Amino acid sequence: TVRALAAADEHEVLAAWTGLGYYRRARSLHSAARMIVERFGGKVPEDVAFLRELPGVGRYTAGAIASIAYGHAEPIVDGNVIRVLFRVHGKELAADDREGVAWAWERAALLAESGPPDLVNEGLMELGATVCTPAAPKCGECPVRKECVAARDGTQSRCPRPKSVARQRERWQVCLVVRDAAGRFFLERRANGGLWEGLWQVPTIERDTASASWKDHADALALQLSKRLGGAGIGARELIAEFQFKTTACRVHFRVFTSERRGKGRARAFHTALAGESGWFTSREASGLPMSSPMRRVIADNLRGVVLTNRRRAT
Ligand code: SF4
Repeated sequence: TVRALAAADEHEVLAAWTGLGYYRRARSLHSAARMIVERFGGKVPEDVAFLRELPGVGRYTAGAIASIAYGHAEPIVDGNVIRVLFRVHGKELAADDREGVAWAWERAALLAESGPPDLVNEGLMELGATVCTPAAPKCGECPVRKECVAARDGTQSRCPRPKSVARQRERWQVCLVVRDAAGRFFLERRANGGLWEGLWQVPTIERDTASASWKDHADALALQLSKRLGGAGIGARELIAEFQFKTTACRVHFRVFTSERRGKGRARAFHTALAGESGWFTSREASGLPMSSPMRRVIADNLRGVVLTNRRRAT
């Protein structure tokens, strides 16, 4: 419920969201639930203007809630709706053309007023998802074929115009898995901002260019960690895995090194400005922390003793 979500700790929310990606959404949902309880008495507002004040709620989500949950005549425009409207009206524009998108919102608003808004909106989205598909529209079975300019002129492939493909960003992460004599992992919380913000990880260095000396990075990580541990030694580093992980925004190349903690150093909890929080965790404790999917795999592989240095691990 909204109230249960509002009362939850962020750790619980992020841990429950693990593996779904888009962690910003989980945070926004959590903040929105708190705002709904504090400002709207625990009831999701019906008005689009109020809905758009909620964290993470933009025009699309506000329109979806207002029309589908409350039956208000508000439009929803997504990529499917833009494609259907552009084709029906023969608009040979890119799907992200500013004026074209503004026109699509106006057009969808008129349509939402023309019938039950939830059915109109869902019908438009469904038509785009199942019949008026990007590459092979099934015009022969389309209910709006008679009114469709693109079907008449044979311009479906130009409505909308193909977008130029953006190059995917590349990131490189060197991870150092360190376990102490009790088998506990050293974990830290990622700083705010950027990929996997606020999630937990083994000590990691991130770069946006490839390097020939990943081992040097692992050594630098070990040195930093040793200082943080009050001078406790970190054993030799061994490369145990290389793999890639794709997010919607970038491709991340992982180099995973393993080592062990020697001696005790000063046992204490760590709080650093950079990482926020850090410390030693059993595998059971680690499984309850919010973590990205690749980081969970790094730890799971280490527990299973998996050693992979070939590139077939790429995903
Ligand atoms: Fe899309 Fe073809 Fe239907 Fe036009 S007739 S809306 S191009 S499926």
